[in-house]
Order: sequence, then C-alpha cells, then structure tokens
Amino acid sequence: MESTRTSPPLRRRILVTGGAGFLGSHLCDALARAGHDLLCVDNYYTGSKDNIAHLIGQPFFELMRHDVTFPLYVETDEIFNLACPASPIHYQFNPVQTIKTSVHGAINMLGLAKRVRAKILQASTSEVYGDPTVHPQEETYWGNTNPIGLRSCYDEGKRCAETLFFDYHRQHHLKIKVARIFNTYGPRMHPNDGRVVSNFIMQALRNDPITIYGAGSQTRSFCYVDDLIAGLIALMDSPDDVSGPINLGNPDEFTIAELAALIIELTGSRSSLVRKPLPSDDPKQRCPDIARARQALHWEPTVKLRQGLAKTIDYFDEQLKKGGWSAIGTGR
Ligand code: NAD
Ligand code: UDP
Repeated sequence: MESTRTSPPLRRRILVTGGAGFLGSHLCDALARAGHDLLCVDNYYTGSKDNIAHLIGQPFFELMRHDVTFPLYVETDEIFNLACPASPIHYQFNPVQTIKTSVHGAINMLGLAKRVRAKILQASTSEVYGDPTVHPQEETYWGNTNPIGLRSCYDEGKRCAETLFFDYHRQHHLKIKVARIFNTYGPRMHPNDGRVVSNFIMQALRNDPITIYGAGSQTRSFCYVDDLIAGLIALMDSPDDVSGPINLGNPDEFTIAELAALIIELTGSRSSLVRKPLPSDDPKQRCPDIARARQALHWEPTVKLRQGLAKTIDYFDEQLKKGGWSAIGTGR
C-alpha cells in the first residue's frame, strides 16, 4: 500500500504547549537536540521556568507566558498540545480551569493548526478509560468514566478534547495525532506534584511514612520519561494516516504496594507504611495494550521500572542536597 507520508522538512517550527512542565520540558530537550525551532508556551500553573532554564536564551528557543484557554496567533509547522495539569491533586484544585484548559485549549490549538495547516498532537491520557472493566486497555475500549465525579474535570475534559481532534480531522482534514499516555515518571516531576512516584520517593528519602491510599492493591504501569518522549516524537513523525488514538506506556504492571516496597529498597529508607483513604473513582487497575504502538510506530519502552526509579531517585536526591525547588503554582 502506498504510504501517505510526506517527508517533513528537516528543521521545523514546533510549538509545545505545557512546555515548562514535566513531560513538556523533556520534549523540548529532545526536539532541540533534533535541531528544530521551538516555541514553548506555558502559564506556569504546575510547570516552572526551572525545567527549561538551560534552554532560555538559546537562539532556537522562544518562551511565551500564555494560557491556552485564550487564542494564540503564531506561525508553526507542528503543535504538541501538552498544556494541562496532570496530577489529581492539581487538576482537582481548580476543576473548572482544568476543563477549560482541555476543551477551550484544544479548540484554540486546533483553530491555530487549521489556520496555519500545522500537524497537531494531543497529549491524551489513560484516564479516558476511567476505572476500566477491560484489562489490559486497548484503544478500541470506550472506557468506564464517571461524568460527575471529582476526576471528571480531567477525564471528561480529555475525552471531549479527543472528540474535538477527530471532528477537526473529519470536518477540516487536519493532520492529527492522539496519544493516550499512561503513568509516566522521571526527573523534573515536582516533589509536591502529588503523584505516586514523586510522593513515595520524597517520603522515602526523608524517611517519612509512605502514604498508601487504600489497600495498595490497585495497579499502575509506569513508563520512564525518555521512553514516553521517544513515543510522542515517533507518533508525530508517523505517516499521516496514523492518527491514533495510540496507547503510549509501559505494559509492566505493579501494585502500589509493590512500588512502595521497591522504592524503599532502592533508597535504603527507614520509612514505614501508612494507609490513607482511597480517593474517589481511583482506577483499580491500569495497564496499556501497546500492540498498536508496536505495529504503527515500531515503538516500545526499554527502561525497566527498577532502572528508571534509580535515575529518578538520584535526581530527587541531588535536588534535595542543592536546597530544593521553587514552590508549585507560583507562576514562575
Ligand atoms: P505537568 O503538570 O508537569 O505539565 C503541564 C504543563 O501545562 C505545566 O507546565 C503547566 O503549567 C501547563 N499548563 C497547565 N494549564 C495551562 C494552560 N491553561 N495554559 C498553558 N499552560 C498550561 O504535567 P505532565 O505530566 O508534564 O503532563 C503533560 C501532559 O501530558 C498533560 O496534558 C497530561 O494530561 C498528559 N499526561 C501526562 C501523564 C503523566 O503520567 N505524566 C499521563 C497521561 C497524560
Ligand atoms: N497513591 C498512593 N499514595 C500517594 C499517591 C498516590 O497510594 O501518595 C495511589 C493513588 O491512589 C493511585 C496511584 O497511587 O491509585 C497512582 O496515583 P497518581 O496520582 O500517581 O496517578 P493516577 O494514575 O491515579 O492518575
């Protein structure tokens, strides 16, 4: 079959929304290494200039403080739309803003892509599967989400964004790419981000009690950030007829109790375990089926949890010794 792939120019103008966040900053690094011109847009809601400080001032890197819920008029060849808080604590802090970021943000970035005929990738999420009744989750599964719960601002916002992407594709023939990202971890997660890997590592390094929500029997599948970024770039660079949605994540599945035990072992911590109530609608099991990514992108993760955690622990340890981080949500 003839491929619809058109060779992209070697050096492209690429917009990364949410570029000062955890994933966005690693994506900017990888795109900079590939020699592209970058425009990083962020409102610093959960991200920070610290994450991209090393890029500021470089001739190929432009930084813009902007909230994607407002229109943006720039020229670009490709858009990676990552802007959105990803940690349950932070996306539930201002749920209305979270939905606006997902939905108005998608409309604004799709409108921009349509005007300049840019290719656009959406950072969607495994949360579109909700508390899944199918395991592992394939892209054909429509999910089991609660439309009115505490997580809905994120889950339903991201589901609506996917709808918008596919409607722009069908109605306006936009080149779209939708990645369903599963739990990803690594250096530059914020220590107060509230997600499980950063919480457990910080608690372990400080010998504080490790907070297990519920029985700890719920599962997640953790992908190291470098693997995930390689998947996002492979998806953006894939032939035009590969729109997704495509699961990107590591299919090795662990219980939260197993994760705690591994982090205690790797840090040599004296932390005890404490139980806290399970947050509402917390998914009981999550594991990606990545057959589609393997086949369409020739992509699969290579970093084992133990290896990735060791690198992440080193990063947190180093930061702690240096005296820490800027506070989250200070707009810097
Ligand atoms: P993050 O919170 O570190 O990064 C999000 C970035 O978006 C931050 O820099 C934040 O300041 C910015 N942002 C938020 N609202 C904005 C707005 N209205 N306008 C402009 N910028 C805004 O989170 P992350 O882990 O880097 O996640 C990045 C993307 O990937 C998100 O869209 C998230 O939903 C998706 N995702 C991440 C994971 C994961 O495990 N890390 C899993 C699934 C999906
Ligand atoms: N969790 C936990 N202790 C913590 C933080 C999270 O037990 O300190 C649990 C949480 O209830 C969930 C899992 O770890 O079952 C992953 O949580 P996270 O917030 O990282 O991401 P989620 O996959 O739920 O969006």
